[in-house]
Amino acid sequence: MQQVDTLEKLPNERIIAIDGTSGSGKSTIARELGKRLNLKVLETGSLYRAATLLCIENDINFDDEDSICEIISNMNFRFEDQPYLGDRSITTDIRKREVASQVSHVSVHPRVREILTRLMREWIIEHGGGVVEGRDITSVVAPNARVRLFIDAPEEIRAMRRTSDPSDNKESRSQKEIQDLIALRDKIDSSRKSAPLVQLDGVPCIDTSVHELETIVERIVNHFNTGAPLEL
Ligand code: C5P
Repeated sequence: MQQVDTLEKLPNERIIAIDGTSGSGKSTIARELGKRLNLKVLETGSLYRAATLLCIENDINFDDEDSICEIISNMNFRFEDQPYLGDRSITTDIRKREVASQVSHVSVHPRVREILTRLMREWIIEHGGGVVEGRDITSVVAPNARVRLFIDAPEEIRAMRRTSDPSDNKESRSQKEIQDLIALRDKIDSSRKSAPLVQLDGVPCIDTSVHELETIVERIVNHFNTGAPLEL
């Protein structure tokens, strides 16, 4: 099976797997780690968002798993610091309200997840490892990664951060609207049958409202480099 093949080929010693709730700060942490450890970064949410964007642009019903699988099998997704479909940069389009509010309805489908998981693993193999963040990286995509982490923060704080994030707030949504959307997305992501968002036993949870970014990144870098326990 191809899925098993790609799992077995992963360069686990060069992978940091990060899962966490929406707006918890995992992308920021991933990018800092990437810079300091000279690892490429993959934001796996952008694959699910790209799939959702294609559904919207091609009038595909979010419940129609067959059609979604067909369109994403040919989508020519690339992630080189930013996401692309072919030569088209989709950084802005995948952050739109419609995509954000529907993405959890696309990511719920097991066969869609299988296809995107394979693309993620191929990206990791091609880049010789990486800092990979999402919802099922520690559990499904790269369960044997050298470092596995779960990132979280209280919901109000996550909503406040999103409200003031210029890359995520192009449509002047209120903080209340953003908080409701985050809560709903977390609920669907955590309760779906296929690869739900979970903090597994043995995967440390980092609360980004408790520690400074610099402290968090420094400790993870040390943990990755020396294998010493993660002290936070
Ligand atoms: O991280 P981001 O907010 O871009 O993720 C968007 C959505 O993509 C999540 O809410 C979730 O439904 C889906 N996702 C997922 N598994 C991943 C990454 C993202 O189901 N590994």
